[in-house]
Amino acid sequence: MAFSDLGLVPEILRAVEECGYTEPTPVQAQVIPVVLTGCDVMAGAQTGTGKTAGFTLPMLSRLAQYATSSPSPARHPIRALILIPTRELAMQVEESVQKYGKYLPLRATVVYGGVNMNAQIDILRGGIDILVATPGRLLDHVQNKTVNLSQVQMLILDEADRMLDMGFMPDLRRIIELLPEGRQNLMFSATFSGEIKKLADSIMNQPQLIEV
Ligand code: AMP
Repeated sequence: MAFSDLGLVPEILRAVEECGYTEPTPVQAQVIPVVLTGCDVMAGAQTGTGKTAGFTLPMLSRLAQYATSSPSPARHPIRALILIPTRELAMQVEESVQKYGKYLPLRATVVYGGVNMNAQIDILRGGIDILVATPGRLLDHVQNKTVNLSQVQMLILDEADRMLDMGFMPDLRRIIELLPEGRQNLMFSATFSGEIKKLADSIMNQPQLIEV
């Protein structure tokens, strides 16, 4: 299996090639084609399996269909939201988004707690297509009206089990209530407890289950 068989746009194939990846990992080979069809996906995958590219590459490819190089912030509403439990993971995921999306006219940023909001607000005001966020800080921005989630087409919950362990369930529920219906949902978790399944049932629409 080659990356070029998966259905990704050429700009992404070029960025992946520059990373030196020769072939998709098993999780990527399974997840990418399904996400590209627009289905909801619930995937069991540990860190180190290449799961970040597994959701980032098809997310970018789908967003690229309607990407605009217009500088106007109004032309860059948040269309993809990636929620993740910790600042360190959020920073790593945003780095991956930037790396794999470097040839696409899509803007990404990351917001997390523990730092002043002003620098984040300045970047958000410029218009952002993809937002990587920890749940608490995202809600701070929602309350501050510096984030508008009404145009989100893709929701990605990464490390979902850790988010629940860290007590983010109420925050997740508040965030999900702000998202439009009809969006695509992806959920990645190392483990599938009853609570994870309950969360999945409440937010996902007939998800494809992928376990590697
Ligand atoms: P992740 O599980 O997403 O944290 O990825 C683990 C590491 O694997 C990261 O350093 C990636 O850069 C690397 N990686 C992801 N996909 C591939 C691939 N197809 N071939 C080689 N390395 C990869």
